[in-house]
Amino acid sequence: MHRHLDAADDGGTMSTGTTVEHLDVLIVGAGLSGIGAAYYLQRDHPQRSVALLEAREASGGTWDLFRYPGVRSDSDLHTFGYEFEPWRAPQAVAGADQILAYLRDTAARHGIDRRTRYHHRVVSASWSSDDARWTVDVERTDTGEHVEPTCSWLFCAGGYYRYDRGHTPRRPGSTASPAPSCTPSTGPPTSTCATGGCWWSAAGPPPSPSCRRSPRRPPT
Ligand SMILES: Cc1cc2nc3c(=O)[nH]c(=O)nc-3n(C[C@H](O)[C@H](O)[C@H](O)COP(=O)(O)OP(=O)(O)OC[C@H]3O[C@@H](n4cnc5c(N)ncnc54)[C@H](O)[C@@H]3O)c2cc1C
Repeated sequence: MHRHLDAADDGGTMSTGTTVEHLDVLIVGAGLSGIGAAYYLQRDHPQRSVALLEAREASGGTWDLFRYPGVRSDSDLHTFGYEFEPWRAPQAVAGADQILAYLRDTAARHGIDRRTRYHHRVVSASWSSDDARWTVDVERTDTGEHVEPTCSWLFCAGGYYRYDRGHTPRRPGSTASPAPSCTPSTGPPTSTCATGGCWWSAAGPPPSPSCRRSPRRPPT
């Protein structure tokens, strides 16, 4: 039986023309979840081969992507952080830069950064019961090349939102707003926001008081 998993649905050189690289575990994503999963895997299963595939050029996920002024955690970092790497900063609620530094320090301290393959975007994966393994289609986002490693276990830690574009809801009164929009992940078009008339979508504070917040639901 073959089962196909599409990355779009869920939210070293890995193979060449003749050689296919097989790993025990492939982790999709080098954010908070992927780094944590890698730590426990290498601690509890040191004999297993483990690699992280990260689509972007850097680790940290959420805490690297969002750069709007004042971006910070809602949770206290004493419980949001890793049990194996306690949060030691005096403030419990931290900004993105501090959280990012904490994640990268943790990854470096435990050798997880060396297991991470950047510019490796998982496009899809196919499961074969006969071979008891996943074949993973990975796009090298720096070269456009595709590689197809196999693995026995595929751990999805890719987060819960799109990284290539922010949420863009319909605007009242028209299908296309004449005003430009901005999102917390792409950052505001500041000149437009400064003069007003800009739509602001999703969580986080508006970049300017003149920005209009997009409605949660489209009008009926
Ligand atoms: C502004 C903001 C504040 C937040 N504050 C809190 C908080 O206080 N407490 C809380 O519990 N949560 C909070 N969250 C939620 C936060 O996103 C999560 O808690 C956590 O950081 C998510 O980590 P993650 O590793 O699961 O996913 P992400 O941080 O999204 O990381 C996923 C990684 O996977 C990579 N990836 C995705 N798809 C692929 C693919 N197909 N192939 C390869 N790589 C891929 C991405 O590039 C990314 O690096 C907040 C979110 C935002 C946006």
